Amino acid sequence: MSSFAFPPGPTPSVAIAGTEQRFPVHRIYCVGRNYADHVREMGGDPQRQAPFFFSKPPDAVVASGAAVPYPPRTENFHHEIELVVALGRGGRDIPSERALERVFGYAVGIDFTRRDLQFAARASGQPWDTSKGFDHSAAIGAIKPATAGQALSGRIWLTVNGVMRQQADIAEMVWKVPEIIAELSTLFELAAGDLVYTGTPAGIGPLQRGDRLAGGIDGIGTLENTIV
Ligand code: MN
Repeated sequence: MSSFAFPPGPTPSVAIAGTEQRFPVHRIYCVGRNYADHVREMGGDPQRQAPFFFSKPPDAVVASGAAVPYPPRTENFHHEIELVVALGRGGRDIPSERALERVFGYAVGIDFTRRDLQFAARASGQPWDTSKGFDHSAAIGAIKPATAGQALSGRIWLTVNGVMRQQADIAEMVWKVPEIIAELSTLFELAAGDLVYTGTPAGIGPLQRGDRLAGGIDGIGTLENTIV
């Protein structure tokens, strides 16, 4: 019988509100350009540019309350507050009208971004991994289990040192949660444990060491992180 050459690393996981159990993370998918105001602030045209997907490694998750190290190789480290969908079941080619059955719960998260590396990659047609998929780049609060018929609306907000930086309503998303799951499932086989960061509204901006971030989505949850 074969064995591992060395012990495998721990399974990345996220707190679940109201229980001691944890949500084991399988993959992290992200949606880009999913709020029209954010597409405009990035210099794009929301009428002409559809949302799209990229990903982060599962061990990039950072819990609420944890310190987030200012990452190396950037001078323009940005916050993006987002609704995160946590899947309890997966599948391929999931119809949008059956998509919400796969949802375990929802959380608020931050898609941390090395904006300078993202712009450089965009300009040269190179991949986004170094700008998006780095260590500690996926902050996430506790997952609130979904309820039947849950309305996917509510204020999403982020403050830095007590000053409001991002504020919108998750109902403003271009691709709604069922469409995101349906579309993603035509590209990948989705699985229990997948997290989907659903895109950020306008108001992205730079962070410095010592900044205190607080964010939330009304009815879903909150998170707090400090940049060190
Ligand atoms: Mn994002």
